[in-house]
Amino acid sequence: MSINQSGWRPEMTAGDSRAPAPGFTGNKALMLEEPLIFEIGDGETTGVDLPAVARTGASRFGGLARTAPIGLAGLSEPETVRHYTRLSRQNYAIDLGLFPLGSCTMKHNPRLNEKMARLPGFADVHPLQPVDTVQGALGVINELAFWLIELTGMHGVAMSPKAGAHGELCGILCIKAALEKRGEGHRKVILVPESAHGTNPATAAFAGFTVEDIPATPDGRVDLAALEARLGPDIAAVMITNPNTCGLFERDLKAISDAVHAAGGYVYCDGANFNAIVGRVRPGDLGVDAMHINLHKTFSTPHGGGGPGSGPVVLSEALSPFAPLPYTARTRDGHVHLIEEERAEEFSAEHFDGRLDSFGRMTAFHGQMGMFTRALTYILSHGADGLRQVAEDAVLNANYVLRSLEDVLDAPFAGAGPCMHEALFSDANLAQGFSTLDIAKGLIDEGFHPMTVYFPLVVHGAMLVEPTETESKAALDQFIGALRSVAERAKAGDAALKSAPHFAPRARLDETLAARKPVLVWKDPAPQREAAE
Ligand SMILES: *Cc1c(COP(=O)(O)O)cnc(C)c1O
Repeated sequence: MSINQSGWRPEMTAGDSRAPAPGFTGNKALMLEEPLIFEIGDGETTGVDLPAVARTGASRFGGLARTAPIGLAGLSEPETVRHYTRLSRQNYAIDLGLFPLGSCTMKHNPRLNEKMARLPGFADVHPLQPVDTVQGALGVINELAFWLIELTGMHGVAMSPKAGAHGELCGILCIKAALEKRGEGHRKVILVPESAHGTNPATAAFAGFTVEDIPATPDGRVDLAALEARLGPDIAAVMITNPNTCGLFERDLKAISDAVHAAGGYVYCDGANFNAIVGRVRPGDLGVDAMHINLHKTFSTPHGGGGPGSGPVVLSEALSPFAPLPYTARTRDGHVHLIEEERAEEFSAEHFDGRLDSFGRMTAFHGQMGMFTRALTYILSHGADGLRQVAEDAVLNANYVLRSLEDVLDAPFAGAGPCMHEALFSDANLAQGFSTLDIAKGLIDEGFHPMTVYFPLVVHGAMLVEPTETESKAALDQFIGALRSVAERAKAGDAALKSAPHFAPRARLDETLAARKPVLVWKDPAPQREAAE
């Protein structure tokens, strides 16, 4: 087996009082070591008992019939349940505690949302059902679309993208289509700030554009003068995150938009951090042309292993005609209409004065119905005043974390005023040889999932903490106490921190190797052993 059954790891010294004595099983307290499913399963066991198939006549599979074993691990039902439950206990979840990952917005998923999403009329609809049997589901998509337009002050919304990054691609493809329609397909450069999420440059490159960096000012914002100096006839768009990934509001966004528009480009806004400004700022008022909204961040739908994402894209009047089909809209007759390709012309005449010129499709169907239902439930249960308070409390909580820790951890932009929804720290002032990674690993022993580390890239050894509005002051104080204690140990040079975590099922993995050379396919070690013998 590939696991260390003793539970004793080389980095633990015998004198380390936290290190458990090697036990008989390798299990710790009520946590069981769990091998890979392939190591405990076999090809013979199955959880279901099917009668043997009587062979009548020749196989209809022809040359496609399988001749070798299928190679899947077989387990009985109780073994399967235990395997996955044990693995799940080695994980961390928002239902266990504060999840400080910056930029990821790990907030409580209200149970009311879950109840609504599980109503059979939503949970069991099939995308190929006749349209007149799914009017309620289309009504939900349409009502959510209405609220997204209302909250952002934009003109239209494409609901189908299935994640933030997918939404970025949708928005950039709209921009590409609009430029081509204008006969300006030669605009090939997209400007992206240094602090951008990695998906921004990846999206621009994937859509066939060249990416150029915009530098940041010393206070962590886009350098407006540098941006203006670069604008010209080759610039297709800028992609700007607001609030940005340093947790700061881009105060100059309106000036940026005006300058970009004057130069013939479009403004893409990464709206993944919309939860910090929802109900307070409308991106449409800032001159944004396209912005994705991560329903799984701002509107609390589960993500990160807990559920799929959903990244609707709101569009300006200039970009709306290029949105991908299908569109769901309430037309002038008051009914909800599904606008597929075959009805696009009718829809175009009705809503776009005949200008509708969709770039195509993003997905086979309408998007993530379960996420739509959860997000609409969240919006309606909060109401306009409640959503505004979401943003205010998210910002208040982040500032509480920032001010409570700035005396132990370097906070590079804290001097310039309050932050938005996330607090950014750096590794300056740690003891010689200690790093952000040591703090992250030390937090695990204190019962917390680490914060986002080494992002954004503009800050050395960045630690980005996003508490979200759903944490109480008591929960924040507990987290702050834990992070303060670990930070103090890193400043004092406590050697035990270098080998943390001591209580987790696994300690320090070679994450670089895992990312560069991922082993994604299990290979049965038996044939290799036999060959060696
Ligand atoms: C999360 C995030 C994204 C990407 O969203 P996904 O749904 O993970 O694809 C993009 N930009 C920022 C700033 C984000 O925080």
